[in-house]
Amino acid sequence: MSKYPLALQQLIASLKMLPGVGSKTAERFAFHLLTRPSESLEELSEVIATLKIKIQNCPECHCLMDKEVCEFCDINKRDSSLLCIISSPKDAYAIEETHTFRGLYHVLGSLLSPLDGRTAERLNLPQLVDRISHLKIKEVIVALDSTLEGDATALYLKEQLGKLGIPVSRLALGLPMGSPLEYVDVGTLTRALLGRQIF
Ligand SMILES: [Zn+2]
Repeated sequence: MSKYPLALQQLIASLKMLPGVGSKTAERFAFHLLTRPSESLEELSEVIATLKIKIQNCPECHCLMDKEVCEFCDINKRDSSLLCIISSPKDAYAIEETHTFRGLYHVLGSLLSPLDGRTAERLNLPQLVDRISHLKIKEVIVALDSTLEGDATALYLKEQLGKLGIPVSRLALGLPMGSPLEYVDVGTLTRALLGRQIF
């Protein structure tokens, strides 16, 4: 890659941080950016530079928020007896699109994977248990990826939350095995939510 000017090499290296972007694609993006007017590049860099200032994670549910109050935690508009556990803030948007769930969310932020050092402590269970009792949740829906890590985490949550005497249900089968929730189409996700089963 030494054939390119240094600034271009740096840009290519930065672009390769993005998921699914390898050397060839990063090079294509970088050369495309070079053809853009300066103002457009400044706008892009401004959007990226201020992203984490403008968007925060809600301290309660850990979903994304760009206002003072979290829309996902608005109990005047949502059913506060239902709690849906998801692994990433992005999953909340996928579930909202199904229009079949009006409860609250809880983003775990991590899935169990002991081999990669992702153990139960990373799930911050005490905060989750606190929320469940504080909000007087009546049903917990575990909506995690249909992967080994997702399954292991769901079983662990069932075991731990079962001690609270609250029904824990999981998205119905029909989710393709090995698929992250964000890649599941709205129709399949809607059916999985409606057909959720106590497990
Ligand atoms: Zn929230």
